[in-house]
Amino acid sequence: METRVYIETWGCQMNLHQSEGIAGVLASAGYTIEENLDRADVVIFNGCMVRQKAEEKVFGRVGAVVEEKRKRPVLLGVGGCLGQIHGEALLKRVASIDFVFGSSGHKALPGLIERARKQRVTELSEPVFDTESTARRKSQVSGMVTITEGCSNFCTYCIVPYARGPMRSRPRDLILKEVERLCGDGYREVLLLGQNVNSYGTDRTDNGDFAGLLTAVSRTGISRVRFTTSHPKDMSETVLRVMVQEPNVCHHLHLACQSGSDSVLRAMNRRYDRDHYIAITKMGRDLMPDLNITTDLIVGFPGETDDDFERTMDLIERVRFGSVFAAKYSPRPMTRGADLPDNVPASVKEARLERVLSRQRTIALEENRHFIGCEIEVLTEGVAKNGELYGRADDHRTVMCQGDTDVGELVTIRVEGTSASSLSGGILVREKHGGMK
Ligand code: SF4
Repeated sequence: METRVYIETWGCQMNLHQSEGIAGVLASAGYTIEENLDRADVVIFNGCMVRQKAEEKVFGRVGAVVEEKRKRPVLLGVGGCLGQIHGEALLKRVASIDFVFGSSGHKALPGLIERARKQRVTELSEPVFDTESTARRKSQVSGMVTITEGCSNFCTYCIVPYARGPMRSRPRDLILKEVERLCGDGYREVLLLGQNVNSYGTDRTDNGDFAGLLTAVSRTGISRVRFTTSHPKDMSETVLRVMVQEPNVCHHLHLACQSGSDSVLRAMNRRYDRDHYIAITKMGRDLMPDLNITTDLIVGFPGETDDDFERTMDLIERVRFGSVFAAKYSPRPMTRGADLPDNVPASVKEARLERVLSRQRTIALEENRHFIGCEIEVLTEGVAKNGELYGRADDHRTVMCQGDTDVGELVTIRVEGTSASSLSGGILVREKHGGMK
């Protein structure tokens, strides 16, 4: 009998891609991937623990499964970083969870689901690297490709090294084969993924470095290459020069700054200072005047003073990010930060977050207005709820496109409108591609 599986994901792109891997494993094992929770026989929550709020959101969704369980038999599995860190304790804490799995080893999921039909069960494998991709991708335009798993940096606020294990680089030939396969399937873009892509290859001697990998990927015939996330301590001039030399490497750099204060950066164990961050971003912009720099930052880290926070605001003014993913600090179990007093009051964190977001909205709007009247190339990625086609510019800005075209095409548009989060305009030129998969 058909078993329908619904997968819901929280967290970063690594988790989104892991869910694509889970979908691929389960589809190969004969399960049907279901888009609606209320029609599923098995519900999988691929959870995130990077912030307390992300964790709470997963538990907030359990009620929807409990409702379904009242009507018919439904199995609920919780995994990802959340499963890896809490393990068996999740079964004790939430009676409606039937099985728990970790942040890797999802190839064992079909067996785990079958065992969970008889009894509640937990299976945590040691973090391993699934070198052969099992992904069943949601997008048929842009394919995520993992190049590293895990992280060895141990930033003091971050649970990733505990949830995903040490940094492991995926063999270069497997990455290139996967990109070539995506090209053959009609994909236009690849997004190379890792917690810290710039450290690719530092854990083994046979792979070369990230700059070499980026060059090789850009020469596979794929139209666009992106990568994320970059760590300022490992970002090099060599990588920036590859971005200049290889015309299909996009001019977008997601470079997580986390704070603009040296004392906070030290307490976070980030291993760079603000001068280094500013120097890297300046070098990038000198080499690529059209470079869009985006970032992550945390407000209210233990001990962050008003002065420290003003240094962060000053960094925002200097760098003028295209967008900022900002979050209030929350202590995470196992991390060194959890031993520090969480001494910035909630109201202060809230006010700081609001100031960051408000100032950033204004900067983004000002930056986007510079594009009015310009012609830019956009890769169309999908159709929004209002029926409008959207895509991304080379520098990662979201663009709403008016005119007749299909998803998965490179088009030229003239920018006519802007908001803080997107550009919009009419299509001038379509460059028809050989067709989607
Ligand atoms: S670099 Fe730091 S913030 Fe990023 S995943 Fe590693 S430990 Fe976490």
